[in-house]
Amino acid sequence: MRGAMDHDPPIRVKNLNIYYGREHALKNISVDIPGRTITAIIGPSGCGKTTLLKSFNRLVDLADGVAVSGEVLVDGENIYAPGVDVTRVRKKMGLLSQKPYPLPMSIYNNVAYGPRIHGTKKRGELDRIVERRLRESGLWDEVRDRLHAPASKLSLGQQQRLCLARGLAVEPEIILCDEPTSALDPVSSRRIEERFRELKSSYTIVVVTHILRQAKRLADYVIFLYLGELVEHGPAGKIFEEPEQAMTREYVKGSIS
Ligand code: ADP
Ligand code: MG
Repeated sequence: MRGAMDHDPPIRVKNLNIYYGREHALKNISVDIPGRTITAIIGPSGCGKTTLLKSFNRLVDLADGVAVSGEVLVDGENIYAPGVDVTRVRKKMGLLSQKPYPLPMSIYNNVAYGPRIHGTKKRGELDRIVERRLRESGLWDEVRDRLHAPASKLSLGQQQRLCLARGLAVEPEIILCDEPTSALDPVSSRRIEERFRELKSSYTIVVVTHILRQAKRLADYVIFLYLGELVEHGPAGKIFEEPEQAMTREYVKGSIS
């Protein structure tokens, strides 16, 4: 179901400004996020990475005293236009947060949760969805013989992959991740990164990270934010090897933290 929308990038940000009260958290950001790639949003703590990510599915609206101007177009539609169905917009996106938040139920039910809400009731069909999504998130072999155990029994790294599977089960187009490995050990982090590399042929992935090495390992495109401004955006090779801005050069050298 693409057709005419093929020419639009999955996410296009135009002159986006976001204020929390009087704090101007994002300053006139314009950027396109290309499809079926991994884009990393990098920059020091407090520079607006999470705010930008959350503007893509209107989660940013949930904070008190937020004011948004400008546009975020998802598949060509401005999601901040009056009357937009926010639930429908959010259905296009899976979200992975810093810590895994599995639902207090079995491994199986975590993955089946979304499809059930959207009307899939047949056991056989749910079984197929659960297996497929657990395979995609690299967890199937580890849990196939204990699908009905509580999700809380899994290690933190496994829980994060389960959350990925749960997100994939509602068939999003875009996967948004906010420092998705920050609570994980290095081995678990690598497994999540491996999944992203695998999944990017089918999904558009946006990952917030303050870990430069992770951005280097993962990103096709990089957005560098500093104090709420977009300093530079481009292919990862260019940003890391020959950035245009002095500020980017300093940051990727590790001189600014
Ligand atoms: P990052 O993810 O890069 O650390 P954030 O997007 O979380 O940055 O925050 C950007 C700025 O906006 C920071 O100065 C932060 O204090 C402020 N901010 C973030 N969330 C809120 C909020 N809910 N209410 C008020 N200020 C906020
Ligand atoms: Mg953040």
